Amino acid sequence: QQTTTVALVTGANRGLGLATARLIAETGATVLLGARNTAKAELAAAHLRDEGLVCWPITLDVESGSSIAEAAAQVEREHGRLDILVNNAGILPEATTPDAERPLDMGLFRRTFDTNVFGAAAVSQAFLSLLRAADVGRIVNVSSRMGSLTDQLDPTSPYAAMVLPAYQSSKAALNGLTVALAKSLSDTPVRVNSVCPGWVQTDLGGPDNRAAAPTTALEAARTVVRMAFVPADGPTGTFVDLDGPIPW
Ligand code: NDP
Repeated sequence: QQTTTVALVTGANRGLGLATARLIAETGATVLLGARNTAKAELAAAHLRDEGLVCWPITLDVESGSSIAEAAAQVEREHGRLDILVNNAGILPEATTPDAERPLDMGLFRRTFDTNVFGAAAVSQAFLSLLRAADVGRIVNVSSRMGSLTDQLDPTSPYAAMVLPAYQSSKAALNGLTVALAKSLSDTPVRVNSVCPGWVQTDLGGPDNRAAAPTTALEAARTVVRMAFVPADGPTGTFVDLDGPIPW
C-alpha cells in the first residue's frame, strides 16, 4: 500500500476544482481529478503531471450512480483507501435563467439539487468505506455563504438581497448534509466540513462572473485545502471561509 495522501476532487477539470487539485498535489499528495467528461479529466491531469505533480484522471459524473460506483471501485482497486474527498462539483443554472422563470422552474430546481446535494451525498456514501480505511478521512463540501440562512434573514447582510432560490437552498441542504454526516461519523476519525471559497473567478454563474469576481481560483482553493488537511483532532461539522467560521 502506498503511504502518500490520496485525494479525490469532483469537478476538477476546471475552475475551483482544478485549482484545489493543484494545491493538494503540491503538498506531495496523489490527486485524482474527477470529471464527468473523461477526456477533460485526462487533459487536466496530464497538464498537472507535466508540472511534476502526481495527478490522475477519474471519470466521475456525480449525477450517475453507476459512474460513482465505478469510480469508487477503481479507487479501491488502485489505492485501497481515500484520505481526502472534496465534493466540489456544482452548478448555478439560475444565474443564466431569466428572472421571470424563477423560482418556479422545478426542472431547474431539481437539476441544481441533483448535482449540488444528491451528487455530494451519493459520492460521500460511495466513498465512505474508503475514507474510513484511511487513518483520518476528510470530506470537504464546497458550499457557499449564499446558502447561509442567517445571512439571508439578516437585512444588514450583503447576502440578504440575493435571491437564487434553487442554488441557495441547495447549498443550505449541502450544509445540512455536512452536519448530519459529521454527527453520524463522530465515533470515527472522519472529519466533515463545509467551506465557502468566496466569490471566485470561474465560469460558474455565466460569462460575466470571471471579470466581476474578486478572488482567483488558486486563492479560493486555499480555504478548501485548509479543511482538507485538518488534523485528526481538528474540527468537524463546521462551516468556514478563509477568515474562519461563518453562520449557517
Ligand atoms: P465551474 O462552473 O467553473 O466548475 C464547476 C465544475 O463542476 C466543472 O468541473 C463541472 O464539470 C463540474 N460539474 C458540474 N456538474 C457535474 C457533474 N454532474 N458531475 C461531475 N462534475 C460536474 O464553477 P466553480 O469552479 O466556481 O464551482 C466549484 C464549486 O464552488 C461549486 O460547488 C460552486 O457552487 C462553488 N462555489 C463557487 C463560487 C464562485 O464564486 N465561483 C462561490 C461559492 C461556491 P463540466 O466541465 O463537465 O461542466
